[in-house]
Amino acid sequence: MQDIIKQAAKDIFSAKKAVALTGAGISVESGIPPFRGKGGIWEKFDPMTFGHIDTFEKNPAQVWKILIKDLKEIIDQAKPNDGHKGLAVLEKMGILKTIITQNVDGLHQMAGNTDVIEFHGNCAWQRCMDCGRKIKTAEVDISVMPPRCQCSGILRPDWVFFGESIPMASLHRSQQIASACDLMLVIGTSAIVQPAAYMPVIAKENGAKIIEINPEATPLTGKISAYLVKGKAGQVMNEILKEMEQLI
Ligand SMILES: [Zn+2]
Repeated sequence: MQDIIKQAAKDIFSAKKAVALTGAGISVESGIPPFRGKGGIWEKFDPMTFGHIDTFEKNPAQVWKILIKDLKEIIDQAKPNDGHKGLAVLEKMGILKTIITQNVDGLHQMAGNTDVIEFHGNCAWQRCMDCGRKIKTAEVDISVMPPRCQCSGILRPDWVFFGESIPMASLHRSQQIASACDLMLVIGTSAIVQPAAYMPVIAKENGAKIIEINPEATPLTGKISAYLVKGKAGQVMNEILKEMEQLI
């Protein structure tokens, strides 16, 4: 284990244009439940009903009450953990340029990363369906359902509902960045859902080294990634950063 931490520290330290691809696993230590998988939000609610734009448009109050209100409470209280903070340190060191994330919690920005591509938008902000104004989720008054903008338009999460497409601009930019990076850290995701799944493949095809930080092996392990650093994101990041201090 120590050898692999040393190796990761060395590889990250020598990278010039590193990118991180992150998923639900990095936010678990911040108390954010994953959407997919065991114990996930979509185990309790059918995504094709409550996560679908058609349902929201037909009955926004119901989707707010059942799904978004609880998420708001969780996200209002969530703070970046050592995994997020470690990535912010790597940006300050000039190593990490961009984070591509599948998460909607906004914790990377809160940790201090300045270039974050959110494939699925985020739930840290709400958007007025009429005038487009954006309001921080923490500042939304939920005493009336559905919550409304000053213009009386309905507020919706600034995320991508099922039935909506991922913004093309995010997709294009991610592909460009993945193809131009020299190192990709895949953290807290098994990267099986498109379009995120394609990013490590693009990076590898263009000569980048892929390092995985995950609690378990994934379909990338041994095929796309050079190696897996097994463990929780926060703990592993701390160990890698400590090791990197020796290299400075
Ligand atoms: Zn409005």
